[in-house]
Amino acid sequence: MVAPQFTLNTGAKIPALGLGTWQSPAGAVEKAVYHALTVTGLRHIDCAFAYGNEREVGAALAQVFSEGKIKREDVFITTKLWSTWHNRAEANIDESLKSLGLDYVDLYLMHWPVPMNANGNHPIMPTRPDGMRDLDEGWTWQQTWKAMEKLVEAGKAKAIGVSNFSEAYLKELLKDAKIVPAANQIENHPLLPQDGLVKFCQEHGILVTAYSPLGSTGGPLLADETVTKLAQKHGVSNGNVLINYQLKRGIAAIPKSVTPSRIDENAKTVDLTGEDIELLNGIHKAQGLKRFVSPPWPVNFLFSEANWGENFKPLL
Ligand code: NDP
Repeated sequence: MVAPQFTLNTGAKIPALGLGTWQSPAGAVEKAVYHALTVTGLRHIDCAFAYGNEREVGAALAQVFSEGKIKREDVFITTKLWSTWHNRAEANIDESLKSLGLDYVDLYLMHWPVPMNANGNHPIMPTRPDGMRDLDEGWTWQQTWKAMEKLVEAGKAKAIGVSNFSEAYLKELLKDAKIVPAANQIENHPLLPQDGLVKFCQEHGILVTAYSPLGSTGGPLLADETVTKLAQKHGVSNGNVLINYQLKRGIAAIPKSVTPSRIDENAKTVDLTGEDIELLNGIHKAQGLKRFVSPPWPVNFLFSEANWGENFKPLL
């Protein structure tokens, strides 16, 4: 079975399954992207300025396009505006487009609603002398969204969306947005199903994309007992169960791998039943909610304060 496509609120189609590229090193990422497109048949690549490997992703895309079998318009490419570039949205997309070798991206996401100092002590994760994250107090993510809306007019992004937005943040955004976000990319897996946020997004025509569907680095959820039982029941791999847990719920998934055999394996679809989904939802009920990707700044709108350590600072 081929993974389905979803339709964005712009009318554009997005393949429900994409390839993630975070923590995909140079050398490996070119091969992974080339393999995913030419062998596996994926048509959706998830990138970000902050991953530091857009040039390498771009090299793979250039090779694929130069071979002529796959055209630019056949591939859905997402990238993301980084926190230290909130007050320079156009410059940030220009950097990404240059590295990727593209004229436009299909989807441009605000990576986090957290503007950080553009001139701090680190280009990606600046900190203040006291060790606190160097937030940009003079700029708001609402201003960033307005600048991102202009990128659609400029033809640099076919669609814009957000990432790591809670329901409260989305409501705030929707109050004044000319463009409703096409997508909200969030951490999602059986230990963090975020059903309320998913429902809110789906009711507002915002596609949810699941990041870290395998539990992020090393894919810890692949070893889960319930996942294993369901994989055995359907004669598929554990990764297939976790990825199709998303697709079945109307959520796009972007598992990362730089291992060609895993990229192929992860692309198999399986029709999970409602009962299977319930069993997978039972995992967090038994083990508690767990977030695998915790950036070093407080994002109180997504999780309880207890999860966020010393740097807690309310954003709303
Ligand atoms: P994933 O849940 O996709 O897990 C990736 C890990 O699982 C890697 O270590 C990979 O190893 C391993 N893996 C993949 N497939 C298999 C398999 N079949 N068997 C065994 N191991 C496997 O984690 P990510 O956190 O990378 O999330 C996916 C993507 O989501 C990211 O790459 C990025 O594009 C996006 N993302 C977005 C964020 C945001 O803030 N918007 C935050 C985090 C991620 P290997 O590569 O060695 O094969």
